[in-house]
Amino acid sequence: MSGAQQYKTLKGMQDILPPDTFLWQSVEQTARSIFSVFGFQEIRLPVLESTGVFSRSIGEQTDIVEKEMYTFTDKGGRSVSLRPEGTASVVRSYVENNLHNLPSPQKFYYSGPMFRYERPQSGRFRQFYQIGVEAFADPHPRMDAEVILMLERFLSGIGLQGISFQINSIGCEQCRPGYRDALLSFFSGKADQLCPDCLRRYDRNPLRILDCKSAKCIAARSGAPRITDHLCDDCRQHFGKLQELLNMLHVAFTVNPEMVRGLDYYTRTTFEVTSQGLGSQNAVAAGGRYNRLVREFGGPDTPAIGFAVGMERVIGLLKQSAAQEWPAPAVFIAARGEPAGTEALSLAGRLRDRGLWVEVGDAENSLKSQLRRADRISARHVFIIGDEELKSGQLRWKNLHDASQGVIMMTEIEEFISGIC
Ligand SMILES: [Zn+2]
Ligand SMILES: [Zn+2]
Repeated sequence: MSGAQQYKTLKGMQDILPPDTFLWQSVEQTARSIFSVFGFQEIRLPVLESTGVFSRSIGEQTDIVEKEMYTFTDKGGRSVSLRPEGTASVVRSYVENNLHNLPSPQKFYYSGPMFRYERPQSGRFRQFYQIGVEAFADPHPRMDAEVILMLERFLSGIGLQGISFQINSIGCEQCRPGYRDALLSFFSGKADQLCPDCLRRYDRNPLRILDCKSAKCIAARSGAPRITDHLCDDCRQHFGKLQELLNMLHVAFTVNPEMVRGLDYYTRTTFEVTSQGLGSQNAVAAGGRYNRLVREFGGPDTPAIGFAVGMERVIGLLKQSAAQEWPAPAVFIAARGEPAGTEALSLAGRLRDRGLWVEVGDAENSLKSQLRRADRISARHVFIIGDEELKSGQLRWKNLHDASQGVIMMTEIEEFISGIC
């Protein structure tokens, strides 16, 4: 055929292939089992939403909404966007489905792809995966502590080493305006020291400057007022109680008053997890409390808190940190010619019914090439069936891991294999 076109993934998109997918599955399974014992239930939401779901909640003035969303007009003329994060959709669903009528607190987790049109040189993907949780209708710092504890259990459960928690409180609608004024007056004489983005939006949301990654803004904000010095009594007590509870639960943390998080909807507690294997700006997971968002979506006044874990970063760290043991076939059946090939299929079926991963060699190939394949895919046991074995009813077996071998009656294979697998 002439003119055949070879397609490639779009810039910033990647295929996730075996054996990496085994690692992804094991991280997802750990998340499910740990989140479940904390009472979080799975929620599955569309990846495409009305653009307003995100611009309204994340904030018009954020990098995500200003620059990074995949937004387009659909065939019905509606502005729709691929979700850049999970929280806004969960809140939309919570309000739309009246989930606040169910017994409180309601606790959910989700996992799946998110989309942001980021510069590819920053090493980020435009389609990336997150696992996240959201807990609704519990304002008490006990819930903050429990959510942070659950995240710690999850990250240590998947074997991540050297993780550290940073926590902060960014106040509430009572105390944040005062802090905002203090920031505005601090930066008022420093306009020429800010990056163009921060300059443009600093009077709308000066907290952004604390979050900006530009070297100019990092220098300009040295000595800036700290939110923790501006908290109202309720926020200070909430934050103090959270720290007390985390200490009691033996979750190690440091307070970082500069950590404000890049989204508009947070109130009070914010937190990030970094790992020694990543730069300090690269959080593995992050989250916080968002007490006003449900109301802004037209629901009842409902406090909430959640976090999201970046799957690519977690997987990258796990691949760096230790030699991975990939799953391998328990049994490889090498058969020579017909009818041994047919017998091999039937034996494979019986062993697979017992939950074993079984591969069958190509009976048209030489025994030698079949054994080479068994070795390459790291099969543990090999059974060899040929005309002679069919006649005698006895098979030769080999353990490729410890090189032991022997002979076994065909009728006794299931018993034999259940004793060693
Ligand atoms: Zn406050
Ligand atoms: Zn800046």
